[in-house]
Amino acid sequence: MSTTPGESDPWPPPLHQYVLKVHSRCDLACDHCYVYEHADQSWRARPRKIAPETVAAAALRIAEHARERGLHRVNLVLHGGEPLLLGAAGLAMVLTRLRAAIEPVAELDLRMQSNGVLLSPQLCDLFVEHGVRVGISLDGDATANDRHRRFANGASSHAQVRRALALLRRPEYRRCYAGILCTIDVRNDPVQVYRALLAEAPPRIDFLLPHATWVDPPPRPGGATSYADWLLPIYRRWVRDGRPVDIRLFDSLLAAAAGGRSGTEAVGLDPSGLAVIETDGTWELADSMKTAFDGAAGTGLDVFRHSANVLAAHPEFARSRRGLTGLCQTCRDCSVVGQCGGGLRAHRYSAAGGFDNPSVYCADLKKLIVTMNDESPETAVAARSTGLAGDRLLDGLPAADLLDDLGTGHGSGASLHRLAAAQLAYVRGLLVQIADRVAGTPLAEAWELIVRLDEEATEAVSATFAHPYLRRWARRCLAPVAGEAPDWAYLGALAAAAAVRAGVDTDIEVPVRSGLVHLPGLGAQAIDEPGERSARLSIAGGGFTARAGRSLVTVPPAGATPPAGWAPVRQVELSGWTLLIDDIDPYRDCYQWPVTGRLDPAQLASWRRSLAAAWARIEHTTPGQIAGLRAGLRTVTPLRVDPGGRLRSAASRDAFGALGTVPAAPDPLAELLVHEFQHVKLGAVLDVSQLYDPAYRKRLSVPWRDDPRPLEGVLQGTYAHLAVADIWRARPGPLARQRHRRYRGWTVRAIDELAGTGALTEHGHRFVRRMRQTVDSWSDDPR
Ligand code: SF4
Ligand code: SF4
Repeated sequence: MSTTPGESDPWPPPLHQYVLKVHSRCDLACDHCYVYEHADQSWRARPRKIAPETVAAAALRIAEHARERGLHRVNLVLHGGEPLLLGAAGLAMVLTRLRAAIEPVAELDLRMQSNGVLLSPQLCDLFVEHGVRVGISLDGDATANDRHRRFANGASSHAQVRRALALLRRPEYRRCYAGILCTIDVRNDPVQVYRALLAEAPPRIDFLLPHATWVDPPPRPGGATSYADWLLPIYRRWVRDGRPVDIRLFDSLLAAAAGGRSGTEAVGLDPSGLAVIETDGTWELADSMKTAFDGAAGTGLDVFRHSANVLAAHPEFARSRRGLTGLCQTCRDCSVVGQCGGGLRAHRYSAAGGFDNPSVYCADLKKLIVTMNDESPETAVAARSTGLAGDRLLDGLPAADLLDDLGTGHGSGASLHRLAAAQLAYVRGLLVQIADRVAGTPLAEAWELIVRLDEEATEAVSATFAHPYLRRWARRCLAPVAGEAPDWAYLGALAAAAAVRAGVDTDIEVPVRSGLVHLPGLGAQAIDEPGERSARLSIAGGGFTARAGRSLVTVPPAGATPPAGWAPVRQVELSGWTLLIDDIDPYRDCYQWPVTGRLDPAQLASWRRSLAAAWARIEHTTPGQIAGLRAGLRTVTPLRVDPGGRLRSAASRDAFGALGTVPAAPDPLAELLVHEFQHVKLGAVLDVSQLYDPAYRKRLSVPWRDDPRPLEGVLQGTYAHLAVADIWRARPGPLARQRHRRYRGWTVRAIDELAGTGALTEHGHRFVRRMRQTVDSWSDDPR
C-alpha cells in the first residue's frame, strides 16, 4: 500500500493512537449515548461488522505510518457500538490481523472499551492470549447505572456489567482489566458512586463529563457549577483514602499542574492526535465530535485510499491538535489554561462561533481546578511521583520505588503507609459490596450510620476499617465457606465501633455471639442473657449501654472503670508506640494454628514482658525493620502452644497488620515477629501487584522444605528468609554465623530458582533482583 501524493514535507506530527470500530451497533440502548442519541447519525449507514479486508487495510495503514514515522509504540482501542457483538471468532480475526501487520514494526498496546454485557471466560482467554486490556462502562451503583444504561426494553444492565467486572478481577484475567469508565450524572450521590466503583477494584476510574455543547448544554440541577460540585467531594474522598486508585481526570489535572502531560484529550494542552477508523474503513476525528453536529467527525478519507499521513494533514484534524493556539482568546487568557486546555474540543461548539469558545463546562472546570490547586498544592504534585495509586491504576502494579524499598527486606514507614492505604481501600470496597447485599433489610441502618460517620468523623471510620480482622469477616460474608452462614449482622458491630471511636451519640442494633457483644478493635462486653442473639446499643460520649432482653449494662468511655464483663483489646507500649494484643476478636482465628482464648492476667503480663524484650532485640539487631513494623504492625494474636513445644507463628493474607505467634524467649520471638511481618508485607504487595504469572503451575524445590512448593510460597519463603538471615547477621558468635550462612544460602538458592522460572513479571524480576542485591551487599563475615 503506497502513500498518497500530498503527504508533504514537513509531515504533520505522527499518529500514535487509534480507535478501531469493529461493530457499529450495541446491545444496550443508553439514553446518554453519543453514538446513537446525539447529533451525528452516521452509524445508520455503516456496516454492522467490520469486514476482514477493512481490518487488513486499517492494520496496514497503521503499520505503514509507524514504519514511515519511526514509531516504536502504537495504541489501539477496539470500540463500537459494542465490540463484543463481533463474537469470539470475529475478534480473534481482528486481533490476529492487527498483530500480524503492526507488531513487526512497532509494539502494539491493545485495549477495548465495552459495556461488558457479553463478556465471557472464553473472550477473556482470547484477550489474555492477545494482551488486550478491557475497560468497562459503569455509572455507579444500581440506581446510578440504571438511570441511563438499560437495554432497549428498559431492563437494567447492572447485574451483567458487575458479572463482567467480577470476571476481570479473577487472578487469571486481572491483567486484562483496564478500568471503569463512568459518565457523570449529577443527580447521583457522588461519594456513593465513587464507593460503588471502588468496590469493583478497578486499576483505573475515568469520569466522563456527559457530552454537551453550547447548542445543547448539560443539565445543571445544582446550579452553574453542578459538575465541579459533584466531582470535588470525590476528589476530597479520594485524597483522604490515600488515592487508592488512579482517577484519570484528577491525575491528568495534577500532572498538568506539575508541568507534565495530561495524557488525555479531555483536559490539558497535549496535542490529541486520536484517529478513528469506522467499520466501513472511513477515517474520522475523535468520537466526542459526534455530539457537535451531524458529520462533525467526518473527514471524507478512508483507509483504502488514504494513509494516516493524509489524515494527519487534514485541516480539521490538524485544528484539533493545535494546543494553546487552537483555543479561543478567553481560554488563551485564562489562568488555568495549562491544566484545563479548554476541555474537550467538542464541548466548545456553538452555532455562532463553531469551536472558537471556552468549554460549555468552563465554570465547572475552572472551579474544579482552582479548588484542587488550593486544597493540595504539594500533595497534588507528590501524587504523580510517589503514589501507589498512580501505578496500581494502569497495571495493578505498585510503584517501582516501593518494590525497591521493600525488596531490601526492610521497608520504610512511607511504604507501609502506602500498603495500608491500599488495604483500607480494599476493605472499603468489600464493605460497599456488603452494603449492597443488606440494602432493604434492617441492617441498612448500620450502613447508613457508617456512611454518616464517614462524613462526620472519617478518621474514626478509617481506624475502625483498619482493624486487621475485618477483611476476613467481610470476605467470609461475600464468599461463605460451606456450612457457614454469612454474619451480615456484624455490620452493626462495625458501625457501633466506629461510633464509639468517633464519640458520636447514636443507637444501633448489634449481634450477640457466644454471650458477647463485640466492638471490632476495641473489645467485647459479656451479656448475661442466655439465648439472646442481638442487643440494642445506645452510644454516647465514647461509651455505650447495651440492652438485651432484661440485661442492661453500661460501658463508660475509655479511662473510666468498666463494668464486669468488659474485655478490652489489650495493649503493650513499646518504646513510643502501641501494639495491640488481640485475644478476643471473633474473626482472629484465621491462621494455620489455633488461637488461644482470653489470656488471664498472669499470661497477659508475661506476653507484655516477652513482646517488650523481643522488641528491644529487634531494635538492637535489625533497626532497619523498626520503621516498617511501627507503621504496619498493629496487632499480635496469641496462638496456642504446640504440645511438642515447637515454635509456631503465622500470618494471613486476610489480616493485614496482624500476626499470630506463641510466646517465646526474646531472641526467638523477635525472629518470629520479623519473619511473619515479611509475609504480611509481601501479601499486601501481592494484593496490588502481579509479581508472577498466575497461570504458572509448576512446583519448585526449596532448601527449607522437602516437598516442592508453589511459586508464591517460594516467593514468600524467600522474603521471610532474607529477613531472618539479616537478623542472624547482626547476632554475635559462631552459632549466629552458622545460622546466617544457612539462611543466606537458602535465600540465594531460592532467588535463583525464582529467577529461572520465566514466570516472574517485570515487577517480579525487579523485586527478586532487589532481594539478590541486598544479599550481595552483605559482608561475608557477620559479627
Ligand atoms: S453501551 Fe456504550 S455504545 Fe452502547 S448504547 Fe451504551 S453508551 Fe452507547
Ligand atoms: S477554564 Fe474555561 S476559560 Fe479557562 S481554559 Fe478552561 S474552558 Fe477555557
